[in-house]
Amino acid sequence: MSMFCRQCEQTAQGKGCTVKGVCGKTDETAALQDTLLYALKGIGVYGVLAQKLGIKDALAERFIMEGLFTTITNVNFYPEKIEELIRNAFEIKERLKKKVAQQYLKQNKKELDAKELPACANWVLPATKAELIEQAKNIGVLSNPGLNEDIRSLRELLLYGLKGMAAYADHALILGKEDRQVNEFFYKALAAQADAELTADDLTALVMEFGKVNLKCLEILDKAHTEKFGNPIPTKVGTGIKPGPAIIVSGHDLLDLYQLLGKTQGQGVNIYTHGEMLPAHGYPELKKFKHLVGHFGTAWQNQQKEFDNLPAAVLMTTNCIQKPKDSYLDRIFTTGLVAWPGVFHIQTEKDGNKDFGKIIAKAKELNGFKAEKKDKEIQVGFAHKTVLQVADKVIDAVKAKKIRHFFLIGGCDGAKPGRNYYTDFAQKVPQDCVILTLACGKFRFNRIDFGDIAGIPRLLDCGQCNDAYSAIIIASALAKAFNCGVNDLPLSLVLSWYEQKAVCILITLLSLGIKNIKIGPTLPAFISANVLKILVEKFNIQPITDAEKDIKEILKN
Ligand code: SF4
Repeated sequence: MSMFCRQCEQTAQGKGCTVKGVCGKTDETAALQDTLLYALKGIGVYGVLAQKLGIKDALAERFIMEGLFTTITNVNFYPEKIEELIRNAFEIKERLKKKVAQQYLKQNKKELDAKELPACANWVLPATKAELIEQAKNIGVLSNPGLNEDIRSLRELLLYGLKGMAAYADHALILGKEDRQVNEFFYKALAAQADAELTADDLTALVMEFGKVNLKCLEILDKAHTEKFGNPIPTKVGTGIKPGPAIIVSGHDLLDLYQLLGKTQGQGVNIYTHGEMLPAHGYPELKKFKHLVGHFGTAWQNQQKEFDNLPAAVLMTTNCIQKPKDSYLDRIFTTGLVAWPGVFHIQTEKDGNKDFGKIIAKAKELNGFKAEKKDKEIQVGFAHKTVLQVADKVIDAVKAKKIRHFFLIGGCDGAKPGRNYYTDFAQKVPQDCVILTLACGKFRFNRIDFGDIAGIPRLLDCGQCNDAYSAIIIASALAKAFNCGVNDLPLSLVLSWYEQKAVCILITLLSLGIKNIKIGPTLPAFISANVLKILVEKFNIQPITDAEKDIKEILKN
């Protein structure tokens, strides 16, 4: 069996993982993920018809989000769980197909001709896992060698963006927020993957439409977070340790953290954030828990080193999980869509609650850290509400030439070399410039003291990757205040990408007409030469080069 996956930045030799994923994904898991995606495309085809016929299927909509999210890099490495999802996908497709056929007959007085639909709509579930894997050979990224490479590239761009939006839509839905436009776009974009009629121009237009829909999704997630946990406020977060049993919570799911904080209250267990969970400290409803004591470690790619020999339990709520070392296999736990064979999974119960009993017991058994160790503080909590409250101060500082330029240095961190660029860049940003940041790439520089300009911190942490929404709102408000477009602001975007959530955010920025984005450490392997040409011509996207050179070039304009 040979796999092919090139959806993330660390793909083998910058071309594609073909034997085993650099991320640790086996060829078996890769094949099953391909089949799951194929099954989701089949649901998408019936979903589009269902919409036209006025049928709503909440279960199918939710399932699509979960299915796509499962295939994001570093989420689910468990073949049996993915097989289970494929079997569910088939049932959901068949149920939707039945509803569509009935309604079609009712409205059109004739039978729906399923033979006219793409093959994924008529896909039949094989009996065994081996057959599912065998089937994947004919449905993966390269399964149609005759396909135009630009069409393939645009389909991949849309699909990977869609995976990112699925993660955000799923987070929002868990908190009770959803949006019709977002849910229906999943159907449309999945069905488009199987539509042989769509030209490169059609797909480019669809990618741009997707960017706008994703902005809506980011907006509902922002609402979901702020209505449940309050608007983030500037907060200093300790990175040292405190004595006592400890649980370290990684990933992006704030509700998991909230529920765990509730369950551990008064139990003598300290809770630390890890990776993308850092911004949680800024939310009033989370920071009110006194046993949320600080942040542990750095970004995801350092977890094997950081979790080794820890007297603490670890909870992985979303991506990014790496192969757990034997030294901590019995004290790392997964939940939600994350899964790794041999790791205990905390299930979601019917009422949405989770039983954290086992991880709490493990933390107590391990007894935690012995002595207090102080370390640097990181400041978080500069989401749109906080920054816009001091907008006048910021505008005055720009007008008085105290602030010359804003740099948004955001995006994912990763293991491949070349990412020191972002540390270098942040360090070399002139003293009269402000850095906005978000997502886990900031761990390259967020322990540095950047000082302030007229009381405005020079480093403003807007939050997780999904809080790109905050950065967009801030930029739009500044543009309004200066009566210009975002591209005319003294603002430059320097982004790092790793997985598919970064893809969806990049597409959203482009769909808003934002130009001159610098991106690195390397360009996506799935972008064909012609698609890149379009991105360069329309948006002047540029690869990063050397930090000093790039800063000079930006500031001379
Ligand atoms: S997710 Fe990335 S590292 Fe993993 S198999 Fe795909 S391209 Fe390779």
